[in-house]
Amino acid sequence: MSHDAQAGRVLLVGAGPGPVDLMTVRAVRAVESAQALLYDALISDDAIALAPPGCVRIQTGKRAGRLSMHQDEINRLMLRLARKGLRVVRLKGGDPSIFGRVGEESAFLQGHGVPVEVVPGVTAACAAAAQFGFPLTHRGEARRVVFTTARLEAGALAGDWSAASDPEATMAIYMGGEVAGALSERMIAAGRSPDTPAVAVEQAGGVEARLYPCTLGTLAAALGETRGGPVLIVIGEVAAQARSAGDVLEELSRAVG
Ligand code: SAH
Repeated sequence: MSHDAQAGRVLLVGAGPGPVDLMTVRAVRAVESAQALLYDALISDDAIALAPPGCVRIQTGKRAGRLSMHQDEINRLMLRLARKGLRVVRLKGGDPSIFGRVGEESAFLQGHGVPVEVVPGVTAACAAAAQFGFPLTHRGEARRVVFTTARLEAGALAGDWSAASDPEATMAIYMGGEVAGALSERMIAAGRSPDTPAVAVEQAGGVEARLYPCTLGTLAAALGETRGGPVLIVIGEVAAQARSAGDVLEELSRAVG
């Protein structure tokens, strides 16, 4: 294959939460026409399998005991591959613009004169809401959605959590599984009721998905039940509407008598 040194480009592509049927058509086409594929730890084997024969496949995230690459290393690798004239696809879980480092990567590449295109994807919060039957906004109940992450600094939750006290805000918390105790303490201290409905959703999107209904006050205990998959936490009145497939069947059989 001959490559035009001028034609190299990088596509930052959202793969959605896992199953390939939750990828956009544009994302599928991007992977199918990739000449180099760099993929994160949460990317499914089915998505990687869409890459054509001959495509260079490089895993950048922790998986099966292998270490993650540093961001600098990933940036330099994308640049090198693009400068060879390759069509580089950087495949990320969910949506690349939500905790996906899309800003850093595109600034780096564009700064080096490499054209960048972003392909959106279904973010974990949307996948979780769709799968377990709750909305993220709801008329008269949830007028805002806050996509946030929770990070500890010296044992306490970093950042300003005053927005979390707003009873009309749905909080969608990424990467919060490990700090659920601190998170719930901080939100209660900010003024949110401990009785606020909450859910943790593990491995949202696919058949392995699990729902852990709880409240803000019992969040840490609920997180203790999870099995090591990626977990998204949703806190807000809308979480009271969450139903697992089992709940739905039970409700149906009760209704039918
Ligand atoms: N860009 C991704 C988020 C990356 S940050 C997106 O838009 O979804 C990684 C965090 O996202 C995980 O720690 C977890 O909190 C959440 N996450 C990603 N995939 C998930 C999934 N399938 N189910 C539940 N949470 C998920």
